[in-house]
Amino acid sequence: MTNKVDKQAAAAWLEQAVAKGVVVNSVPAAGAAAARELLFPGSLATVGRDSLALVKLGGSPAAPCLAVFGPNGGRFAGAFVKAAGAAARFCALDHGNANRLRKVLPFTAPSRLGGEPVTIGLGDRLGLASPGHLRLVAGRAAAPVLAQQSVRELNLTNRTYEDVLDAATWAVFQEGYRRPWGADGDHLKSADWVQTAVKLGYTMITADVSDSIRKDFDTAAESAVLEAYGKLPASRRAELEGRYLPLAVSLDTGEKIGFDRPQLARIVLVYLDALDAAEQLYRAGVKAGGGATFDFELSIDETATPTLPAAHVFAATEMKLRDVPLFSVAPRFIGEFQKGIDYVGDAAAFERSFRTHAAIARHFGYRISVHSGSDKFTVFPIVGRETRKLFHLKTAGTNWLQALEVICEKEPDYFRQLYACALKTFPAARQYYHITPDMTNVPPAESLTPEGLRGLLANADTRQVLHVTYGEMLRDAEVNRRIYAILEANIEAYWKSVERHIGRHLDSLGVGGR
Ligand code: ZN
Repeated sequence: MTNKVDKQAAAAWLEQAVAKGVVVNSVPAAGAAAARELLFPGSLATVGRDSLALVKLGGSPAAPCLAVFGPNGGRFAGAFVKAAGAAARFCALDHGNANRLRKVLPFTAPSRLGGEPVTIGLGDRLGLASPGHLRLVAGRAAAPVLAQQSVRELNLTNRTYEDVLDAATWAVFQEGYRRPWGADGDHLKSADWVQTAVKLGYTMITADVSDSIRKDFDTAAESAVLEAYGKLPASRRAELEGRYLPLAVSLDTGEKIGFDRPQLARIVLVYLDALDAAEQLYRAGVKAGGGATFDFELSIDETATPTLPAAHVFAATEMKLRDVPLFSVAPRFIGEFQKGIDYVGDAAAFERSFRTHAAIARHFGYRISVHSGSDKFTVFPIVGRETRKLFHLKTAGTNWLQALEVICEKEPDYFRQLYACALKTFPAARQYYHITPDMTNVPPAESLTPEGLRGLLANADTRQVLHVTYGEMLRDAEVNRRIYAILEANIEAYWKSVERHIGRHLDSLGVGGR
C-alpha cells in the first residue's frame, strides 16, 4: 500500500496550498478552513524547527503522504519540492519514514498499557480502519491496541508486521492522537515470531500455547489421568503436590479455590507443558527487547472444555513462580465465542463462571482478556461489571464486516459478487475458525434483492460466512485492488461505520467518557 511521491503532484499541491493560505512561508498554517481539504489538520506537529503534516496529495484521503516543512526535512526520505515561494519535502508512507516518525514524535510509537484499566484490541485487517477507532476512543476511557494480528492473519491478508505497525503509526499521526496505544503480536506460537515482533517495537505479546495444551487429558477418564500422572518423576510430583494440595486461594467474591489430588493430576497433565512453553516465549521476548519491553498475555483459550478456576489459579501461580509478569490471561469461557456474532450459550452460567475468573485475575494482579470479543452484546454488561472495568477485549474481524457494509451500501452489485465469492471459498476458509453457521439460512447470491443483500450483514449465519472468507478475497489481486479502491473513495463513511459499531461495544461494556 506504500504510495510513491509524484513530484509534479507535490508541486501542484504546494501552489494550491499557498494560494489558499494553508502554507505560508514554508510553514503550514493550522486552522484555516481550506486546510481541511488539503491536509489532515490533526496531524500538524512541530519537531524543532520543522513542521510536519499528513497531506492529501493525490486527492484521495486514504493515499496521503508526509510533508515536512523546514530545514531538517532530510531526516525523512522523500522528494524536495519548491513552488509558489514555498518548499517542503514530500515523503512516502513507507517503513523507513514510519521508523523516523516514531523517533521524532514518540506518541506515534506504541507503548505498554499496564496503567490503562480498559484496553481494547482493534486489529485492523485492511490497515484502513484505525482513524475511525481513534476518533471513537479519543473520548472514551479505553486505550486502543491498534496493531493486532496473528501470523495466520498476516498470511491470509498478505501483510507483514512492519506494514501492520506502520498503518497504525500513520493513523495516530493523522488524527494527532496523543494518548498511549498498543501493538499486539497476537497468538504467537514460536520464539522466532516473538522476537520479530519485539524487535519491530510491538508492545504486547500474546503467547498462544494451545499446541502444548494436552486436550486429550482434558476429557480423559480419571484412571487414565492418574496412570499418566504416576509416570512423572516422583520428585516433580512431590514438588507440585507440596505446592498445590495445601493451597487455598481466597477470592474477594468469598470463594476459595483449592486442589485435590485427582484434579491436580489432570491440571498438571493438561497445562504444565503449555506453561513451560509460555515461559520460553516470554524469555525469548525479553532477550530480543533487552528487557521486558512488552505486556505479556497468556492465552489458554483453545481447549476442549472451559477453563476451571483451579486450572486458572495453577497457571497464574506457575507464571508467578517463574517470574513471568502477566498483563492478561485469556481463559476459555463457558459458551461459544464465535467470530462476528453474539454470544451463544447460557448467559447466567457464563456470568457465574466469569465472576470467578475475574476475581482470580484481580487476586493475581492482571486483567482478564476476552478473545473473539466482537459483537458479544449479550455478555458485554457482565464483562464490564464483573471485571470492575479492568479488562482487555480483543476484536478484529469486525472491521472487515464494517468494510463490507460500506461496499454493500455504495456498490451493491460488487458486494453481490463478493458474497458469491465468499460462498464459493467458504468450505476452505471455515477450517481455520470455530464457527457453526446454519447453511440452510445462507441464500444463493443471484436471488437477492438490494434489501436482501443488506440483510446478509444482519444475519448471524451469513455474517460468519462473510467474516471468515476475507483471506480468500484479499489474496485475489484484482478483488483486493477493487476493495481498497471502493473503501478509499468512501473512507469517511468507513471511519464513521467502525466508530459507530465499536462505540456500541463500549456502550454495552459500560465504558463511557474520560
Ligand atoms: Zn484467542
